[in-house]
Formats: sequence, C-alpha cells, structure tokens
Amino acid sequence: SNDYRIVIFGAGGVGKTSLALRFINGTFCEAYVPTIEDTYRKIVNSDKNVCTLQITDTAGSHPFPAMQRLSISRGHAFVLVYSITSKQSIEELKPIYDQILQLKTDLHNVPICLVGNKCDETERNVTAKEGKDLATFWKCGFLETSAKNNLNVKELFQKLLELEKRQNLTL
Ligand code: GDP
Repeated sequence: SNDYRIVIFGAGGVGKTSLALRFINGTFCEAYVPTIEDTYRKIVNSDKNVCTLQITDTAGSHPFPAMQRLSISRGHAFVLVYSITSKQSIEELKPIYDQILQLKTDLHNVPICLVGNKCDETERNVTAKEGKDLATFWKCGFLETSAKNNLNVKELFQKLLELEKRQNLTL
C-alpha cells in the first residue's frame, strides 16, 4: 500500500488534534479532550497512484517513550506544534526534535515543519521571529496557524508535501 505517514508532536493543549480535525473534517471544537494517539486518513494524489495520507496525532507529553520512538521510526514527515501563547510549549519541542535527529539518519530527506498554533490569540508569548529563528536553526519549514480561524492549516500540509522530494504528492 502507498501510505504517507505524517506525525504531529507537541505539548498537551497546543492544538494538535484541532489542526488534524480542521484539515481532515473542516471542523473546530472549543472543548479540550486529551488524546493518547489518533490516526486520521485522507486520500491525496501522487505521481505513481493515489496515496493515503495518514496523520497521527500523538499524546502531548510523551508518557510512552517507546511509542514516541516507534512513531518517529514509522513517520515520513513531522509537524512540531507549539502554541504562540506558551513559551514552554516551544521549549518542549527541542527533545522531540533531537529524538527525530537521532532516529532519522537521512534527515535532509525528512519533511519537518515547525508550527506556532493559536495565532488568533492576542496573548502572545512567542514572537514569530523566535519561531522563524528556531526553524532556520533546524533547517525546517515554519508557519503560524490557527485551527480555530482556519488560517494556514491547508498550507501546512501542502508545505509538507512540497518538502517531500521523492514522490510528487498533492492535496
Ligand atoms: P492537543 O492536546 O495538542 O491535541 O490540543 P487540542 O487540539 O485538543 O486543543 C486544545 C485546546 O486549544 C482546545 O480547547 C482547543 O479548542 C484550543 N485550540 C486549538 N487550536 C486553537 C487555535 O488555533 N486557536 C485557539 N484560540 N484555540 C485553539
């Protein structure tokens, strides 16, 4: 089967589930329901044939390190999400990035996007420049998104597929 696995990492409450649901279903929910791990699927076009985009929404603070390693090993592309309202949430991504670095030897072939979600919020604690600088340091993509206002959500997944050089994937 032609599966393309995108894994979403980030602290609890930054909006991982919301981004996935906004992209897959076009919906948004104000209520916070903590996730262990969920996978969503969407069919996309590829140069060979159709491809199933699998989006895995992981548990916030990784209570299961083995599960995190497995998600990274199996993942083709990664979304690292923080909330622009929380400095701590961007700090928490660093060990995850290091873990990806450790497990993916051909890192330059692995699409990664750093995402500052909740950009609709007025109480900002992480500037766009801080996010951009970290993404430059990591040599990965960067976007600020709002799952709530549907800002840059489709663009996020589009960007990941553009970063995928080995096959032509389009939404
Ligand atoms: P997760 O734990 O990272 O999966 O976070 P959730 O997707 O469950 O979202 C946590 C909370 O943040 C929920 O109450 C959402 O409604 C809210 N939320 C998610 N995305 C946004 C956003 O873009 N803007 C705002 N203002 N709230 C959001």
